[in-house]
Amino acid sequence: MEDCLFCRIIAGEIPSDKLYEDDGFIAFRDINPQSPVHVLVVPKKHKERLADCSDNDKTMLSGLLLVANKVARDEGIAESGYRVTINSGPEGGQLIYHLHLHLMGGHKLSDQMG
Ligand code: AMP
Ligand code: ZN
Repeated sequence: MEDCLFCRIIAGEIPSDKLYEDDGFIAFRDINPQSPVHVLVVPKKHKERLADCSDNDKTMLSGLLLVANKVARDEGIAESGYRVTINSGPEGGQLIYHLHLHLMGGHKLSDQMG
């Protein structure tokens, strides 16, 4: 998807503060962090949103969570705790229509969930 920001980051056309990469995923720091650790974990295959996923995406979706766990360990927040969020669609607050997971931690997160 040529006009997709995250596809362009994956392709290396736009720089990012990359923390992790494998064949299926990339993780980089959010440009506008909402907590001391705020990392986006992004599947390399373009999929617009969680709402578009089906049984065919089970492996990718479990991989997304496991990469988040790995990055949390690497960032030193596995024990203190963290939150993962996926925004899907307009009322979910999704701004970038390439599926991604937010990993946030490094301080006490708000009790508010929406
Ligand atoms: P969402 O609302 O779930 O679509 O989140 C999109 C996130 O992408 C926001 O938290 C933005 O701050 C973040 N973002 C936008 N552009 C960039 C970029 N070039 N590099 C890193 N993060 C970005
Ligand atoms: Zn994309």
